[in-house]
Amino acid sequence: MEAMSSEHATDAAAATPTIFERIIAREIPADIVLETERLIAIRDIAPQAPVHLLVIPKTAQHRTVAELAAADPALLAEVVATAQRLADEHADGDYRLVFNSGANAGQTVFHVHAHVLAGGLDEGSLAH
Ligand code: 5GP
Repeated sequence: MEAMSSEHATDAAAATPTIFERIIAREIPADIVLETERLIAIRDIAPQAPVHLLVIPKTAQHRTVAELAAADPALLAEVVATAQRLADEHADGDYRLVFNSGANAGQTVFHVHAHVLAGGLDEGSLAH
């Protein structure tokens, strides 16, 4: 039998579900605050603001916000509108919207998601 080529090994790794796919599939629990046909919103497990929610498209097709914007701008618009709705419902309507894009920018889950940070943020706290 032939050894698996590195190309196939990469494909196999890409097919491994991320933590967000497993949350969307209800394989692991999360505090879900909103769900629509195309996205889910959950509380971040390690909050970095008084309100720290994640808005996650259900599709695993897009790794970054730029990929999402290019492939499905309507879904990106839904993510942004949902962020505003959540900030209205969970805080005073003001919020910071963060998309970490790439490991050197702090991205750890390569399934596009928006961080909605709200509830009283200090000016100058953009980057830690
Ligand atoms: P990233 O670093 O990729 O921009 O954001 C990933 C976020 O997902 C982090 O803020 C991290 O705290 C959060 N996270 C990682 N694993 C889980 C989990 O199992 N449940 C929830 N609710 N959030 C998670």
